[in-house]
Amino acid sequence: MEPLTMISTALASIKGAGDITKSIRDLKSATDNIELKEYLVSLREALVNANEKIIEVREALQDKDEKIKELEERLKREEELDFNDRYGLYETTKGGKKLRYCTKCHTEGHYVPVQERPYSFICRNCNQDYPKPDEECPQFESKTDYNILDY
Ligand SMILES: [Zn+2]
Repeated sequence: MEPLTMISTALASIKGAGDITKSIRDLKSATDNIELKEYLVSLREALVNANEKIIEVREALQDKDEKIKELEERLKREEELDFNDRYGLYETTKGGKKLRYCTKCHTEGHYVPVQERPYSFICRNCNQDYPKPDEECPQFESKTDYNILDY
């Protein structure tokens, strides 16, 4: 039996016990007995308390189910990712297209696609730059070729 079904069954049992308590309270013989009336009040309080606690357990269980679902989705996504050593980026192929994700943001649990530029990839979230080692940027080739006064 599924945990949420067990909880529903427990809540139905508590409701049943509450109904029985009410039936006893409504009996003519019970209304004449002060001691029995006090026991019935205590019983009703105990049932209300048990009902509240079970509802809290149900909510906690639903939160955990959501967390598990979230982690399963993350795990599935992680399995689809490969680490590209050349760029230092995580990547996957979707619909024949390469998607690359920022490694820095990935360590914080976020999947942020990087933007491709001619000589590097950049993360628009954290501004981390990932140079393409096989494509040298002209400004780094030889600084003597550029004279700052020319600009
Ligand atoms: Zn980033």
